[in-house]
Amino acid sequence: MPAQPASRVPDEAHQPPDEPLWCSRCNTDQHLVVDSIQSHYPPMPNMVDVTYECVACKYSYEQLASVHKVAVILNRPGLQQGVLQFGGQYLHCGNPMKTRSCELRRIQAPLALGVGKPEQIYEVYINTRILGCTCGFRMEIPD
Ligand SMILES: [Zn+2]
Ligand SMILES: [Zn+2]
Repeated sequence: MPAQPASRVPDEAHQPPDEPLWCSRCNTDQHLVVDSIQSHYPPMPNMVDVTYECVACKYSYEQLASVHKVAVILNRPGLQQGVLQFGGQYLHCGNPMKTRSCELRRIQAPLALGVGKPEQIYEVYINTRILGCTCGFRMEIPD
């Protein structure tokens, strides 16, 4: 008696269509870089809102996709993925970046309040956070 073939297909009848991440212009997924992953609202099991970009034609896409489809792109060796925004976290090298320090930055901008008026220098203070990755990569984001 031969073993049962591995044909256990999960019940996906009620799942929304799960299209793979794809550049319809280049007709390939070879140049895709994932920009951000956010949880979908209303929440759906294993489904996320993903934005990604094709670096070949510079076209951006946004779609609802399963975590599995996103992972196909993310886990592919080769292309440098850079910083990934994931549900409010920033990931680099696949790891969440950690806050290294907080800064208070002073930004100066000349501004003329009306035609013919002299420009004045205005100052704005903003709080920023410096995020760091274990590889040494750092970036600063407004807090
Ligand atoms: Zn493309
Ligand atoms: Zn890194």
